[in-house]
Amino acid sequence: MEYAHILIRYGELTLKGKNRKQFTIQLQENIKEKIQDMPTVKIKRQRDRMYIILNGADPDPIIERCKHIFGIQSLSPAIRVVNDEEKIKEAALYALTSEPDVQTFKVTAKRTNKDFPIKSQDLNQVLGGYLLTHSDGYSVDVHEPDMEIRVEVRQDATYITSKNIQGLGGLPVGTSGKTLLLLSGGIDSPVAGYLTMKRGVKIEAVHFHSPPFTSERAKQKVFDLARSLTGFGHSIRIHVVPFTKLQQKISKEIPHGYSMTVMRRMMMRISEKIAEKEGILSFTTGESLGQVASQTMESMHAINDVTSYPVLRPLIAMDKEDIISISQSIDTYDISIRPYEDCCTVFVPDAPKTKPRLEKVKYFEDMIDFQEEMEETLAGIEVVRISQHSRQDKEFDDLL
Ligand code: ATP
Ligand code: MG
Repeated sequence: MEYAHILIRYGELTLKGKNRKQFTIQLQENIKEKIQDMPTVKIKRQRDRMYIILNGADPDPIIERCKHIFGIQSLSPAIRVVNDEEKIKEAALYALTSEPDVQTFKVTAKRTNKDFPIKSQDLNQVLGGYLLTHSDGYSVDVHEPDMEIRVEVRQDATYITSKNIQGLGGLPVGTSGKTLLLLSGGIDSPVAGYLTMKRGVKIEAVHFHSPPFTSERAKQKVFDLARSLTGFGHSIRIHVVPFTKLQQKISKEIPHGYSMTVMRRMMMRISEKIAEKEGILSFTTGESLGQVASQTMESMHAINDVTSYPVLRPLIAMDKEDIISISQSIDTYDISIRPYEDCCTVFVPDAPKTKPRLEKVKYFEDMIDFQEEMEETLAGIEVVRISQHSRQDKEFDDLL
């Protein structure tokens, strides 16, 4: 007798009617990718749940990995037996007695296979009685048991579980298209990327840097942040944009109160070029309303004006504390607080306008010809692929 399976429950996916099959296939793919170094472990997909068949493998590292996969509501190690009363009793007894520090228990039986002769309610009684008479020192507590033994009699077999491990929820990455994440080295944008992935979206990233005013280590920090995010999905391509020339020109030619707004508009325009080329249909930023000068209603209006792409802002209504607590839980916080300069802080004046007026922004921009710098910037974009375990691989990719 052993826990030879892991039962995966989908949660929200069950609501998705028609798309369910596509979701479950994607989830199966995502799990398979996470355990590809364990060729003997198999995954069996059913309409309303999935089973990982361990074939002797240690369940703990697999459970650990599943805790990082979106689309899993909860999971449980499971004992699988044929639909036979005696076998079910044995398995329930094994579940109860194989765990230390358990004194009270409760049996919750569910019979979805109506061919099985004992009804759910009766099965509770039968199993509860059996456990009490075949073990020592245990008692039943239906309200707050140390262990809830769940018994599900299904078509193919009966599954017995005694632990319920919370998953991340969300939707499997790959079911909701792709977004271009504007990834800085700060606390917010990695969290925004995480939350977007949680809704099933794949991400690709763009990072603006300004060498030599920003250092290699500042760039490395962004790669490390991206690597943390790969743990929740897939390898991530980062488009690294050399932003120095454009920033220098902006800071020289645009009145200081407006340089931050113009710089952000340039970021959007460049992001749009990348999105067009890659067939990506939206952007994601770490903006949160009211946090800094660029995140007022007026600023967002002026910055958003240059693109018709949807800009996803998953943090828009969140408090900083909540954002920080997510960043701690996904292990990006310690990377984000490494003290390296960001391109925006290097060139941005002390007091950017918090309420930039769109006509003024356009007026200032129209007076300057940025074309040469823009072309040079686009031509200098470098694409780096970040995978979970390897160092980054460079891909050279000329945009124009
Ligand atoms: P973060 O913590 O993500 O850096 P922030 O609170 O510092 O955000 P801003 O500096 O106003 O806020 O940046 C707002 C958003 O603009 C960021 O969340 C990010 O999505 C994007 N952004 C800022 N700087 C860069 C950069 N150098 N490269 C790519 N995107 C950036
Ligand atoms: Mg920042």
